[in-house]
Amino acid sequence: MPYTDRQAALSAEIDARRDDVIALTQDLVRIPTINPPGEAYLQVCEYVGNRLNKRGFLTQMVRAEGTPGDSDKYPRWNVIARREGAYPGETVHFNSHHDVVEVGSGWTTDPFGGEFKDGKVFGRGACDMKGGLAASIIAAEAFADLFPDFHGNIEISATADEETGGFGGVAYLAEQGYFSPEKVQHVIIPEPLNKDRICLGHRGVWWAEIETKGRIAHGSMPFLGDSAIRHLGAVITRMEAELFPALASRTTAMPVVPPQARQSTLNINSLHGGQPEPEPGFDGFPAPVVAHSARMIIDRRYLIEESPDAVRQEMIDLLESVKSERPEFKYEVRDLWTIPPTMTAKDAPVVTAVAAAIGDVLGLDPQYVVSPGTYDQKHIDRIGRLHNCIAYGPGILDLAHQPDEYVGVDDMLDAAKVMALTLDRLLGQGRAG
Ligand SMILES: [Zn+2]
Repeated sequence: MPYTDRQAALSAEIDARRDDVIALTQDLVRIPTINPPGEAYLQVCEYVGNRLNKRGFLTQMVRAEGTPGDSDKYPRWNVIARREGAYPGETVHFNSHHDVVEVGSGWTTDPFGGEFKDGKVFGRGACDMKGGLAASIIAAEAFADLFPDFHGNIEISATADEETGGFGGVAYLAEQGYFSPEKVQHVIIPEPLNKDRICLGHRGVWWAEIETKGRIAHGSMPFLGDSAIRHLGAVITRMEAELFPALASRTTAMPVVPPQARQSTLNINSLHGGQPEPEPGFDGFPAPVVAHSARMIIDRRYLIEESPDAVRQEMIDLLESVKSERPEFKYEVRDLWTIPPTMTAKDAPVVTAVAAAIGDVLGLDPQYVVSPGTYDQKHIDRIGRLHNCIAYGPGILDLAHQPDEYVGVDDMLDAAKVMALTLDRLLGQGRAG
């Protein structure tokens, strides 16, 4: 369908801000918010806050004091900006994380230089997700400048620590009530999922540590002891024979991408058994001992068809069955953390509004996807109890965390148009009712 006059005006307004979106993304990339440990959080929040302050937003800085990693050296800062419309109405919130992962190797551009080349802005975080933050800022500013007589409110937040679980960011804000359904009705998280896709949610996750126990003895007479490492080996053998095939055969209604993740998965994240690694610089030999402890950290991703209890019980059943065959087998399971799967309904208001806007801007039906890993939606859903939430943003997911990460300017502009037209549908004259 061709644009209405309002939509055409919004689209032109965003095209006119091309230089602005480039400069904004460059500025954001040049603030090296590496996490861990959580560098320059205050700087990025002040930058976003100052910009939006000048454009009619009320801004609030929130430090997530006492959350993991928070210290005076590395304070967990968040910024929330709110622009109120001319009439009461619903609130649409764009939430972006401002932290980025470490640089790693293989770069041919300066990771914090914000180089603009061939229609792309390069740098760590350009794609994940400072480009998305920039697109949402441009969209909100363009919409509010052009149609200041809108209903309700627009909020934009830049939050800490998504890359390390989001506890000093969205989780903290959700606990403080910033994402309660009374305050906020629609949430869009501009993660880089490609501009024609709506991400409805994510699989669940259970992190746990499995420890097998043995008895120490001289390594020359292992029969006098009991090797915890051999016990853990038996667990892995059982996993290979039974659990991995069982997980791979599980199917789901969740449209997870990539499709290989459209099943249950288990990653053995780490293994430690017996003597600890020698201190760096020590080049002596090990002493002969039978391992009295071996530990495995597991990262189990699960589907909406599975319950957290069933996922845990399946592992216990496996351990019990190993135990029945190994008389001295002793184990302990320590839960680290768990997040249930979430999937916003396709007919939720934010989904239908963004889907219609994708149709208006790109002339196609969106692809509905689910993320294999969790992101900040988990806290909005679980702590905030706000289920009308999706991820939608510019950028190519595969580039996230890679060297020479970039975001395309045309993608940012297209996504910004989708966001602005979404605002018009939810808060503007284009809204239903
Ligand atoms: Zn991200």
